[in-house]
Amino acid sequence: MRDMASDERVPNLQLLEDRTGMSGRFHTPGTAQYEKSAKLVFDGSDRLPAVTVRPRSAEEVSRLVQAARELDWRIAVRGGGHGFARHALAAGSLVLDMRELDTVSIDPARRIGAAGGGVLAGEYTRAAWQHGLATGFGDSPDVGVAGLTLGGGIGFLSRRDGLTIDSLHSAEIVLADGRIVTASEEENATGDHRDLFWALRGGGGNFGVVTRLEFELRPTAPVTGGIMAFEPTPENLERAVSAVLEAPDELSVMMSLMPAPPMPAIPAALHGELLMIVLPCWSGSSDRAERMLAPLRRLGPVAEQIAWAPYPSLLQGPPPFPEPTLPASRSGFADTVDRQWAERAIDAVRTAPTASTIQIRPMGGAIARVPSAETAFAHRERAVMAFAGALTPDPGLLADAHAWLDTTTASLGLTGRYVNFMSVDTEDDVAGAYPGRTMERLRRIKGDYDPANTFSSNHNILPARAEPSAA
Ligand SMILES: Cc1cc2nc3c(=O)[nH]c(=O)nc-3n(C[C@H](O)[C@H](O)[C@H](O)COP(=O)(O)OP(=O)(O)OC[C@H]3O[C@@H](n4cnc5c(N)ncnc54)[C@H](O)[C@@H]3O)c2cc1C
Repeated sequence: MRDMASDERVPNLQLLEDRTGMSGRFHTPGTAQYEKSAKLVFDGSDRLPAVTVRPRSAEEVSRLVQAARELDWRIAVRGGGHGFARHALAAGSLVLDMRELDTVSIDPARRIGAAGGGVLAGEYTRAAWQHGLATGFGDSPDVGVAGLTLGGGIGFLSRRDGLTIDSLHSAEIVLADGRIVTASEEENATGDHRDLFWALRGGGGNFGVVTRLEFELRPTAPVTGGIMAFEPTPENLERAVSAVLEAPDELSVMMSLMPAPPMPAIPAALHGELLMIVLPCWSGSSDRAERMLAPLRRLGPVAEQIAWAPYPSLLQGPPPFPEPTLPASRSGFADTVDRQWAERAIDAVRTAPTASTIQIRPMGGAIARVPSAETAFAHRERAVMAFAGALTPDPGLLADAHAWLDTTTASLGLTGRYVNFMSVDTEDDVAGAYPGRTMERLRRIKGDYDPANTFSSNHNILPARAEPSAA
């Protein structure tokens, strides 16, 4: 049973309607639209937002942000609903559900794709594919393009094309004061927002509400991918990671140590058994695919389904999570995956208190060729991003799951954090995502653009306080 938390504000809808001129567009608990907009994939939250609304334009977002500030409402933004931070839709907040900003347009001549602030990765990817083009997002079609991009974006094309933010061309964003500006590498008609553009590439939803994103598109032929499953041995894990790190950039791979899901590609006898599941994507020429996958195949998969396939078909995502599913997840980075590291990772999943996984994504390639200071994603030189995730329907097991995260990330020596895979949100976690100078710069930019921390329902960066004037 979900209760309104004690700091909930009594929703004064009338005032909100008057100030925004959006009468009849707000949804309160008990309505079907509220239930859709107030819910995240990982739910079970006992903190209910007060009101939801689906803006249809940047201008409406601007009116909403201004009214919310005047009326002292806390703002939360919902895109694809796949965020791990359950605190994001906080008690008493006004949720801007961006799903109606769902326009995708693909300009094959300029090789630029545009996505509204509520577009999902699969929607954009399928539209781009009609032209033999792609921008790399993650592994799931249902994740929001804006949410994924603001955190960095690691996926099947990352070693070839870089993180998603490396393809970001510009972002239209509604700021805390209601201005609608376009942030990009250059000065433009809305001003010079190059610092903001730097911050948006990794700094999350801290700087405003993104209403449109433009990305570079790259020619992409069908790719070779699918699933390979292996015995979860330290040798297999170590050798698989090093095979990918040594491979050409066109090979990106996601690996998970996890109980085998009931997928047709995996024999029924193995369902539920701990396996090392490998999802490769070879985006180079098809006649080299066999050679590129050979080092993985030599490890002797216990199951395999690999095909030459349209790129969008690789974005499968996991099977739907049962409701409620509460995540405890923490990410980090490692510089080496040796035999001992692999052994500790396998032991951790074997001894976890709830259904758990450790996922490993080898980086390198184009990710590492961008200097770390160039965007707010500060971990480019690390060899792998890894995250430990525990899922449970039982709130009573969350404390155990969090304790498991602590011991697992410590035993694997994971340092730094990747905001996109972070449910735990201590000060150390946020500081880990944005170490040293990255945090200093982010706080300064936050101070310039959102000094009152209007956008705080996220992995929050506190604004730097302006120096008192000498006068
Ligand atoms: C099944 C699954 C698979 C995933 N796969 C990958 C992957 O392969 N690679 C990867 O990098 N990440 C991946 N992620 C993580 C995902 O990128 C992040 O959780 C991301 O924040 C989800 O965005 P969303 O819009 O779907 O979620 P939401 O919960 O709607 O949003 C999360 C946060 O993003 C911000 N936000 C969203 N939209 C906007 C907007 N328009 N303007 C301003 N702020 C906004 C807000 O702060 C919000 O709280 C995955 C997550 C899941 C659950």
